[in-house]
Amino acid sequence: MSCLKNIKDQFPIFKNKVNGKRLVYLDSAASAQKPSIVIESIKNAYENQYANVHRGIYHLSQIATDAYEESRDKVKKFLNAEDSKEIIFTRGATEGINLIAFCLMKNFLKEGDEVLISTLEHHSNIIPWQLGCKGKKAKLIEVKPDENGDITLDSIKNLISDKTKIIAIPHVTNSLGSVLPIKEICREAKKKNIITVIDGCQAVPHLSVDLKNLDCDFYVFSGHKLYGPSGIGALYVKSDILKDMEPYQTGGEMIDYVSIEKSTYTEIPHKFEAGTPNIVGAISLGYAIDFLNNIGMENVTKHSKDLTNYLVKRLKEDNDIKLLGNPKCRISIASFLYKNVHPHDIALLLDKRGVALRAGHHCAQPAMRHFKVDTTLRASVGLYNDTIDVDYFIENLNDIKKYF
Ligand code: PMP
Repeated sequence: MSCLKNIKDQFPIFKNKVNGKRLVYLDSAASAQKPSIVIESIKNAYENQYANVHRGIYHLSQIATDAYEESRDKVKKFLNAEDSKEIIFTRGATEGINLIAFCLMKNFLKEGDEVLISTLEHHSNIIPWQLGCKGKKAKLIEVKPDENGDITLDSIKNLISDKTKIIAIPHVTNSLGSVLPIKEICREAKKKNIITVIDGCQAVPHLSVDLKNLDCDFYVFSGHKLYGPSGIGALYVKSDILKDMEPYQTGGEMIDYVSIEKSTYTEIPHKFEAGTPNIVGAISLGYAIDFLNNIGMENVTKHSKDLTNYLVKRLKEDNDIKLLGNPKCRISIASFLYKNVHPHDIALLLDKRGVALRAGHHCAQPAMRHFKVDTTLRASVGLYNDTIDVDYFIENLNDIKKYF
């Protein structure tokens, strides 16, 4: 973890005290804190680069457009996509998945077809498919995890039929931090002409993603979990899939020709970016990617893996703590319960000590139900955390036990 020494200094929020205590932020899976480079890029964009994009022919609009498109190119390189046309800016992963589900349901799915999702989805990778399947009289099939909480290739293979048209799964689950074998799953899907949609929200802040190698059809993520601003995300789409499909939203920016009777649309990605986009959000997302590239994704992954292992080891030392699942490969997240104490009570007491930890169902109610719980505590690590943070959290957890 030495390559990340002093990284916390690059995050101004850690200068603040919480309840008079130093902040130990262990909720990066919900949203990550922002480094100065990202915060300053927002200020700089509004002060020096701001105008609407793709509209004006004047100098400032060109500067804003260039910065916006440069950021698209950064996302392309970050994910190792083939072409920046394959990157669509969205409001976040939720909008990305809704866009895919809407387009595929409208233009592709037929009655009787099947869509595979797992028990461990975030709600945003359940409900869009649920509604779409209902409308098309298609069937939503649930892939269940094994006893460790792993979604295996075999469990997916067993459920694939000649009716399977789409597999929509996470790269990393947000309730357990389990890493799915998505390369193998995508390879299997390809053999059977099944479309693959990967929810990369919890993966991109920790693992380097190589889309040319993964060969999935869609990949989504949110900027705010990647140390970037909220309200911006990206959707990767293989260029040949969406180009002939009807748009998701309509209006300005996405048209070629409009009359009162009919309209034609422009090319991807703009065809799927109706209206004025989150210009500054997109530009700043590019700076978040610069930030990660400067550290090096291999260093980021090593830090996340080492710290996750340390966190899990410390949690396992306490027999009163019950960890949810025991996945073979886990990154950044651990969900747990302490005896029969309600997670909210523990989270409130930890907050008084400066430790920010999530308590709830983590927008993953089917996952909670699978493990026969309503809510859990969830600790998740980011680049600014270290073993001292984990120790501080465990010490305080031990200290509050006297209340129960
Ligand atoms: N998928 C996963 C795995 C997530 O963790 C989240 C955010 N918690 C989302 C999708 C939705 O992301 P957003 O709220 O940024 O759209």
